[in-house]
Amino acid sequence: MEKYLSQLNDAQLAPTLQKDGPMIVIAGAGSGKTRVLTFRIAYLMSQGVDAFNILALTFTNKAAREMKSRIASIVGDSEAKNLWMGTFHSVFAKILRFEADRLGYPSNFTIYDTQDSQRLISAIIKEMKLDKDIYKYKQIYSRISSYKNSLITVKAYFNNPELIEADTAARRPQLGEIYKEYVNRCFKAGAMDFDDLLLKTNELLTRFPDVLAKYQDRFRYILVDEYQDTNHSQYLIVRALSDRFQNICVVGDDAQSIYAFRGANINNILNFQRDYDDVKTYRLEQNYRSTKNIVNAANSIIDKNQTKLDKVVWTSNEEGSKIVVNRLMTDGDEGRYVASSIFENKMQNQLKNNDFAVLYRTNAQSRAIEDALRKRNIPYRIYGGLSFYQRKEIKDVLSYLRMVINPADEEALKRVINFPPRGIGQTTIDKLIVAANGYNRSIFEVMKHINKTEVNVNAGTKTKLQDFVTMIESFQVMNQTANAFELAEHITKASGLIKEFNKDGTPEGVAKMENIEELLNGMKDFVEGQKELADTTGSLAEFLEDVALATDLDNDKGDDDRVALMTIHLAKGLEFPYVYIVGMEEDLFPSAMSMNTRSELEEERRLFYVALTRAEKQAYLTYALSRYRWGKLIDAEPSRFIEEIDDKYLDVITPVDDRRQNPMLSADIFGDVEPSQIRFKRPVQKKKEKPPKFIPPAKLKPLKKSNGDHVNLFDGKLAVGNIVEHLRFGKGEVLKIEGVGADVKAEINFENGGVKKLLLRFAKLDVI
Ligand code: ATP
Ligand code: MG
Repeated sequence: MEKYLSQLNDAQLAPTLQKDGPMIVIAGAGSGKTRVLTFRIAYLMSQGVDAFNILALTFTNKAAREMKSRIASIVGDSEAKNLWMGTFHSVFAKILRFEADRLGYPSNFTIYDTQDSQRLISAIIKEMKLDKDIYKYKQIYSRISSYKNSLITVKAYFNNPELIEADTAARRPQLGEIYKEYVNRCFKAGAMDFDDLLLKTNELLTRFPDVLAKYQDRFRYILVDEYQDTNHSQYLIVRALSDRFQNICVVGDDAQSIYAFRGANINNILNFQRDYDDVKTYRLEQNYRSTKNIVNAANSIIDKNQTKLDKVVWTSNEEGSKIVVNRLMTDGDEGRYVASSIFENKMQNQLKNNDFAVLYRTNAQSRAIEDALRKRNIPYRIYGGLSFYQRKEIKDVLSYLRMVINPADEEALKRVINFPPRGIGQTTIDKLIVAANGYNRSIFEVMKHINKTEVNVNAGTKTKLQDFVTMIESFQVMNQTANAFELAEHITKASGLIKEFNKDGTPEGVAKMENIEELLNGMKDFVEGQKELADTTGSLAEFLEDVALATDLDNDKGDDDRVALMTIHLAKGLEFPYVYIVGMEEDLFPSAMSMNTRSELEEERRLFYVALTRAEKQAYLTYALSRYRWGKLIDAEPSRFIEEIDDKYLDVITPVDDRRQNPMLSADIFGDVEPSQIRFKRPVQKKKEKPPKFIPPAKLKPLKKSNGDHVNLFDGKLAVGNIVEHLRFGKGEVLKIEGVGADVKAEINFENGGVKKLLLRFAKLDVI
């Protein structure tokens, strides 16, 4: 037997070695489902299955990359390269490019991200003169999205009186019209949105039997991770592609189904047995990820759900520490506690920052955590916020690039036609949009033939429009010979973008320039990287596709040592030695919006199960008694989920009742009190007394000068990343330190006054 197979237990080995036929692996968290998929692919290849015939669908592109490199380490790089692996969206975007003409799309179609789609919907609502308070563009977007994921096309919508009635009852009778216009506009712009990537794939496979046959023949072995979170559209694609050979292997955990709100359908997992003949079902029971305490606590939670498949999860790992539960006064205190605790754990256990994750229910909760981590100089990274590629300046550059590939791209054009300002006003743009709709052409085509149209603009404006067209066309010419990086670099200059961002010299302008530089670096890497990869050609079009589908989790190269901050939804499939689950409060987690029905509450509980099972060694649960939400201080109660865990797995830290009574715990210095100190300053409520952990002060880095004196910066104590305060310029972050002796200077980005270089000899700074 192949040597690598010894890294699997018997239960894992069975599904790994079943070469053919439909099979499902249902198993709890951390039991090796993803590992089975990985090894199974290696095994298939060792049995002579051609890599070209294997398709593996994962939840993130990052997961696919990791899987691929693992497989490469077993079967060799050159073989692994040919595997089709990635998210549904990225794999089917590639297929749609090959087959675009069948659907009337250009193969260089643009992929609209959520922001593009929402902007277009918002524009349509405005053009249709609808009330934007009733027709909220984000809501309309998600409604359209859910129609698409249920395969309800515009035509199907108008044929379904129930849907029309439902939207009319929701005071949105024009929803169908918006949907129709949105779909038309995307089509005319040669653009597909995220949901189209699945919807159009379904259309392709149903309308063209020869196309279906071709991909059925290609993907003889199909594997799907996180199957419990596939939606209807994804389900149908997998079903169609696997129909001929029926070599389909899906793995999942019904207890981790957490995307129902986005259309994921848990029935896909429950009905799998019905969908195929002779389905083999496998179960894995041994968890390799977490300590006994964590596994048992997680089991005790999921037990409370009524709708579930019965599963056993156990581990032979060590007992481990109990789950720490801590109550804090405010969300600010919660942040400080988490930062202190991470700090302490790092010092005591020689850990790295990336051994820690802080998970929360909603993105808004990250701010308090971030503030506290920054004060402690603990580097962190937020996942799932605005991704790098969605920042304004980056989207500006990308929009020019998108215009090069697909000049019909309406959203890209609207972004850059007058940015940098070139005297083309909104009235002109509105006229162009109306004309484009009238002629049923793209805006760019109307501009190109402006003299032949009846668009009523003056001669000066016409020249400006033509100049813009000429500029884009010159970029297109350059694209035929230059690589993506060279072209992008040229565009940033020739379009005037760099000049525009450099103009003001504000810190924001500088930061934008740096981001653009970062984008260019990324493109350079991409161009270099293509030389080594078989499955890319390194074209600009390909770069843009990667970017459109990138989430910031995908961009994580894992090479920087930072604490990970993310929502629980994003953490699915990941693991970290230490996990902090914050905001364990009623109405926040479970979310106030998900407590109307049992099934919603059960989904929240599954979410908690996912959160807890990310932890390998130690989990922390925190809640605050009051928290800022929607700009107000709100009283909070501990989450019912804490109570649902059997006491024997918990280590409940003394509530800090009233810190005002104890100067040691006053808000100002709270950030400097180690959690171990807080813990034993107060009578312990629930657990047995343990001797306090003592951290010799010498081991701790001085974090803050609390006596108000200016720090003697001259002796070099200041470090990049420190936050300082200046009498006149306010707070600032140290960007750079240079020079020696009396000439040491620091470059500091101040909130009032921007980036300044200060001679430390004279600078009156406080390190905060
Ligand atoms: P999740 O439900 O969270 O996605 P999973 O079932 O996919 O979890 P994996 O991520 O595959 O589980 O495995 C969990 C951890 O256990 C990983 O670190 C993996 O490397 C390790 N592991 C799995 N099987 C074994 C094994 N037989 N021996 C040693 N380690 C294992
Ligand atoms: Mg997994």
